[in-house]
Amino acid sequence: MRDVLNRNRRLYLRSLWMINLRWIAILLVAIITLITVYYFRIELYERGIYFVCLLLALENMVSVFFLRRIGKVKEIANLVNNPPKKIKQDYIRIKRTINFQILSDLFLLTLLLYYTGGVENPFVFFYFFHLAIASVLLSQKETYMHTVVAFFLFVILVYSAYFEVLPYYGLHINKEFVDIHLYKDSYFVLKNTVTFVATVFILVYLASSIGRKLQTQEEKYIEALEKLEEKDKIKNEYVLRVTHDVKGHLAAIQSNLSVLNSRILGPLDEKHEGFIERAYKRTFMATHFVRDLLKITRLRMMESVEGQPFDMIRILLQAIKDTRANAEEKNIELTEEIEEDLGIVVGDEFSILEITSNLILNAVKYTNENGRIKLKAIKMRDDVLVTIQDNGLGIPEDEKDKIFEEFYRGSNVKKIIEDGTGIGLAIVKKVIEQHGGVINVESTLGKGSKFYYILPKFS
Ligand code: ADP
Repeated sequence: MRDVLNRNRRLYLRSLWMINLRWIAILLVAIITLITVYYFRIELYERGIYFVCLLLALENMVSVFFLRRIGKVKEIANLVNNPPKKIKQDYIRIKRTINFQILSDLFLLTLLLYYTGGVENPFVFFYFFHLAIASVLLSQKETYMHTVVAFFLFVILVYSAYFEVLPYYGLHINKEFVDIHLYKDSYFVLKNTVTFVATVFILVYLASSIGRKLQTQEEKYIEALEKLEEKDKIKNEYVLRVTHDVKGHLAAIQSNLSVLNSRILGPLDEKHEGFIERAYKRTFMATHFVRDLLKITRLRMMESVEGQPFDMIRILLQAIKDTRANAEEKNIELTEEIEEDLGIVVGDEFSILEITSNLILNAVKYTNENGRIKLKAIKMRDDVLVTIQDNGLGIPEDEKDKIFEEFYRGSNVKKIIEDGTGIGLAIVKKVIEQHGGVINVESTLGKGSKFYYILPKFS
């Protein structure tokens, strides 16, 4: 959503789009000139046309230079990490580049038309395209400025030929069929001028009013989005504070209960024993819940991860080592098949270790005793693929997407295994996505599940 609403990114991409279109136009003009001259044998002032192509290429290079100076498209898109002042500055600079492109295009189009018959050229109305683009991308004031420039260029083009101020470069079909002299026909010239002026102003008025409406709408969306994000930030900070405080109290209760539960202070009578054990268990669960809540809230507040390159094999082997005891407790066979030279991944290795362990622990939790779990890792061209497969309870078909949502627990496990927060997979997904990867699951109810994630390799 942010990307769609990112005005700077949109303008930046449009500017790139115009540059690409211009390369195509240069190529087309050159090819059409060649065909016209050598196939149809129509005389053209070739040197002039190629000169315009050269100037267009130069314009493109200057535009690319301007855009590079503003930044890469990824940096432009990143509204969050850019301070508002930079966003505004970028906006002005991108608009300046677009203004430069449209103005240069208008001048070069006039020059091209001048070398190819002026008012007699059937493409003399190509000015409209540039003005239509201007009215969508630029402000109304800027668009009218371009329209006035286009109007004057058109008048200079047509009347400099009419009054013979500049030499005329016509379109000559062949030596015998020469000079129809339409450019000197007052009726023809006046008719074209009137048509040009009327069409151009109506077109710009219509296109820019539609463009302005769209722009206002977009600005409203951005404003609403910013407000929502501000509220979301406040909510996250609030959750963070509360959970942090609760975590402290829970830790204190848990340590007191664990002293009682361990019977260090002496034996407990039967009546108290049950209550204390239950209280201890519940506090333990609540501590886990609060810990996960803290983690997911912190992740939500983080836009991207910073980290170092790390060896993926080491992390996967560590995850297996950390979880082996849990698997053995249920007599589950935990095996691995990891390809050599798996590759290097950039990011927070601790988070990747944690989420891999989490996936294995989930597999242990949702697999019956004597089951099997296998971790497999293979290298792909640009990515690493890790799968964790079990032959456990599986996931109902229509819940496969939902299990990655916060607080969602599968309907098949809720009653059998009470111990769960439904936050684990949401954390896993968030971490993977922040590392530029994806996660998914294949599963058959009652037969088992295969979770897999893909992380981009460091190249
Ligand atoms: P929790 O395990 O605390 O319930 P998670 O976010 O880790 O929360 O998992 C969400 C849900 O996804 C689980 O409640 C369960 O229904 C399902 N699930 C996760 N891993 C597995 C698995 N290996 N096999 C079957 N179901 C799974």
